[in-house]
Formats: sequence, structure tokens, C-alpha cells
Amino acid sequence: MSSTLFIHHSHFDQHSVPPSHPESPLRSLAVETRLRQTGLWQDLDIKLAYPVSKELFKLVHKPGYIDQLYQISPNKGMILADPDTPLTFDTLSATEEAAGSGIQAIDQVVSGEYRNAFCAIRPPGHHALPNKTMGFCFVNNIALAAEHALTKPGINKVLIFDFDVHQGNGTIEIFKNRDDVMVISSFQHPYFPYSHFNVKADNIINIPIEAETASTQYRRLVESTFIKATSNFKPDLILLSAGFDAHTDDPMGELDLIEDDYSWLTKLSMSLANDYSQGRIVSMLEGGYNLEALANSAHAHIQTLLNK
Ligand SMILES: [Zn+2]
Repeated sequence: MSSTLFIHHSHFDQHSVPPSHPESPLRSLAVETRLRQTGLWQDLDIKLAYPVSKELFKLVHKPGYIDQLYQISPNKGMILADPDTPLTFDTLSATEEAAGSGIQAIDQVVSGEYRNAFCAIRPPGHHALPNKTMGFCFVNNIALAAEHALTKPGINKVLIFDFDVHQGNGTIEIFKNRDDVMVISSFQHPYFPYSHFNVKADNIINIPIEAETASTQYRRLVESTFIKATSNFKPDLILLSAGFDAHTDDPMGELDLIEDDYSWLTKLSMSLANDYSQGRIVSMLEGGYNLEALANSAHAHIQTLLNK
């Protein structure tokens, strides 16, 4: 049995945004194809996501927002939930499974069945606010995973590290001023979503990074803050909002990371999880829009999670 769980579902690909949209069904496919090509697929335990009820979404979202999302969901074709975020007839079933992946991963990592897990999900979640969609996101998958983890015996504090090129503003909004969740977000600044930069809360740590910053400087900016915050907070579990759009080839971000930086970030997260969290990590896909860079970066991340 593998120490790393990989959760996917073909329904993620059925969230069929228009062909010109960057958050494409080809993304999750690219990640899986690369894992198969290199043989890493054989080393993982692969499971299908199961869906969760929309009632569960109300743990982190306003009930009226979730009910409205289901009311406006089209029976065929698509509508725009906001200018960036197409809602198609099969989006909400993909969303139920994307969120369900996190619940499943938490259950199996906290029980000790797996050391860590990666959820190759779409749609992503970290921009989703309590009461609205934003930036391709409908339901905040990582926030829901954190809330679910906190219902488990022995999980009293959860740390979320978000390394997407965009700030995890939805996650920050959901958890600001909580003493059982810490959110660290490294992101290009100034940049979308242009909000929550000035949130003053003890449990929120922003690491703003200038455009065109590359590996050495990025690592310098992240390392000491991540180590210090984690050693002060002493989380029982580390969650990763794993966006790979800070890669130098990504068409949306303007940071200059390479695959090796994702191995480094993963190693650092694992080392801190070993020190404070019994090694427990659950990682959930967020952004990453150059298919080649996404596939290679996610591969580097997962290979490191496997200790390969
Ligand atoms: Zn992003």
C-alpha cells in the first residue's frame, strides 16, 4: 500500500467551460497523463471522489448563497455566475465531488491510513467567498476540508498554506480571526484578487511577492515565515492550496518559479508536518494554466509527497 492517496474523478472533466477558458478540463487530464507516463501512477493509491451534499457547503458558505447557486444552475448549456466563472449544467456535480475529495482525504489521512493525499480536483476553490463565486471558484474546497478536519478527535488546529500565484482571498475571508485555523498565502502582489491584502488578523499571514521574482528570492521570502508561523502555531494537520500558476511558463501569473521550487515547497511542508502534525498533509489542486508546466509541477509535488 502506498503512503500517498491520489483522488480524482472523471466528472471533474465534465465541468465543461468554453474552450477559450483557462480553467480547462484538460488540466486534471494533463496531471494524470504525466503521472502515468513516468510510472509514478503505480506508486500511488488511486481512489475516486465521492460527492457530498450541498448542505455540507453551508459549513463555510452562507446558506442563501448555496441555495441560490443550485437555483440558477442551468439544465443545459452555461451561464456566467460572475464574469470569470462559467456555471454549466454539470458544474455542481463536479463541485460536490471536488469538495468530497477533501473530506475523503481528511478522513483517510487523519485515521492514519495514508501519510498524505493529493486531490486532482476542479473546479478550484480558494477564491470562493462565503456569499459569492469568484475567479473560477464556487465552493471553497480547502476551507471545507479544514472545517471537516476540526470535527475529528485530535485535530484542534489546522494550518493552510496557499502557494497559488493568486492570494487565497476566499479562504482568508472564511477564517480570519479564528484561533483554530491559520492561513498563510504567498502570492504575486499587486495582482488579482486585489483584496484582503490589508486584513489584520493574528491568524492570517500574507507573503506578497513582486512580479518576476524567481526561485532564490521566493524561497527566501517564504521559508522563514512558513517555519516561524508553523512552529508558533503547532498545527495538528497541514493543508496545501496547491496552485501551480506561479510557474514561469504560466500565462496568468508573472512569477518565475520552476518545477524544483514545488519540490522544495513540498519538502519544507513535509518537514514541518513531521515536526508538528504527525506528517499529515492534504493537498488540493487550485490554479495552473500552462498544461505542460502544470503537469510537471504537480508531478514534482506528488513525487515529493511520495518521498520518491
Ligand atoms: Zn491562481
